[in-house]
Amino acid sequence: MTKALLIIDYTNDFVAPTGALTAGAPAQAISARITQLAAQFYAAGDFVFLPTDVHTPGDPFHPETKLFPPHNVRGSWGRALYGELADWYTAHADEANVTLFDKTRYSSFAGTPLDLWLRERGVDDLHLVGVCTDICVLHTAVDAYNLNYPLTIHQDAVATFKPGGQEWALDHFKTVLNATIV
Ligand code: ZN
Repeated sequence: MTKALLIIDYTNDFVAPTGALTAGAPAQAISARITQLAAQFYAAGDFVFLPTDVHTPGDPFHPETKLFPPHNVRGSWGRALYGELADWYTAHADEANVTLFDKTRYSSFAGTPLDLWLRERGVDDLHLVGVCTDICVLHTAVDAYNLNYPLTIHQDAVATFKPGGQEWALDHFKTVLNATIV
């Protein structure tokens, strides 16, 4: 099996106390575990991808403009990776096995080359971490399921702000998307 870790949207706007759409304390609490997993996958020669939301404020054509305040604006503090993961990424940004890329929708597959990159690398074991469990992690998992990728969700490295959302999404990953929950 060739493994890849997807670290979804672990940015200041989604995680930091003053982030524009922060998931708050639960998201901050998984910082060390996410960085540990990144280091672990990297050390094993596996792939680490960082799908990272990016937006243009007030974009009249983007559906999130009506749903959420501006967030993850390109070049802003809010779009920078949060906490120790930021330092880890800075140290590994030039490595071929480490890829941060733009996404503009909830799913990391929507409008991105992710499926092509995974196929080029022969990845057949996909691991998801990040935020929010019931939004961007969920939509990424649904697309991965439809593309036949076996899924593992690390429950100690995903978080959301919605009461009940974590439990609902973890159950959905397991019982509907056939994911392994670890
Ligand atoms: Zn967004």
